[in-house]
Amino acid sequence: MSKKPIIGITGSAKEVHGIDHSFVHSKYPEAVLRAGGVPVILPLGNEEAAKAWAEVIDGLLLSGGEDVDPQSYGGNPDPELGKVVLERDETEIALVAEVKNRKLPVFAICRGIASLNVALGGDLIQDIEREFEDPLKHHQEGPRTNASHDLHVEEGSRLHEIFGETLVPINSMHHQVLGKVAEGLKVTGKAPDGVIEAVEGTDPDWSVLGVQWHPEEMAVKYDNMQKLFDVFVEECEKAASEPV
Ligand code: MN
Repeated sequence: MSKKPIIGITGSAKEVHGIDHSFVHSKYPEAVLRAGGVPVILPLGNEEAAKAWAEVIDGLLLSGGEDVDPQSYGGNPDPELGKVVLERDETEIALVAEVKNRKLPVFAICRGIASLNVALGGDLIQDIEREFEDPLKHHQEGPRTNASHDLHVEEGSRLHEIFGETLVPINSMHHQVLGKVAEGLKVTGKAPDGVIEAVEGTDPDWSVLGVQWHPEEMAVKYDNMQKLFDVFVEECEKAASEPV
């Protein structure tokens, strides 16, 4: 009899009434709950906390949020760099190393895909509009639940298997994007302008999916986006029943 898998969702710190609070946007735990997982929020921590968390959780969801600090990949800040929280980068980089050791499934969303890529040795383009020729608008102003640009899915990829289609409309709320893709990841989804929108792990024993859009927002309206969470939680359940 398998127990419900525990899904660690990375959080951040936010000042409310002058006091720092740990927080995560509610749409993430809600999508995990609908998928049958048990969400727990992982606040900013340290390397020791990351090790302890990885022993408790059955899967890691790297959530959206601030820009990744270029210091985390040996870069310097572009004038368009947004708010960064170096402590969050440090926490997530330590977590990725721990879950990689334990082969726990990872689902990385928006900032999460950037953080995952950096944690595995890749780097980022800090601002699409400054560095891409003829880019699409990747910071939509319509409702977050609605799609705004196309996603071209690599044929035969895991994402293709999940969606059953190679053209999928997605929402877009980002200005950073992957630059050099880390070893161990492969690109399986792109926007029409060439911006990387999805990566998957290449190790068949470690389930890793990263997406640049926000499926937790669309999942309220669209079954294919909820399916990403359903498949992830299912994999965490499998990983939980086959301990390392
Ligand atoms: Mn986009």
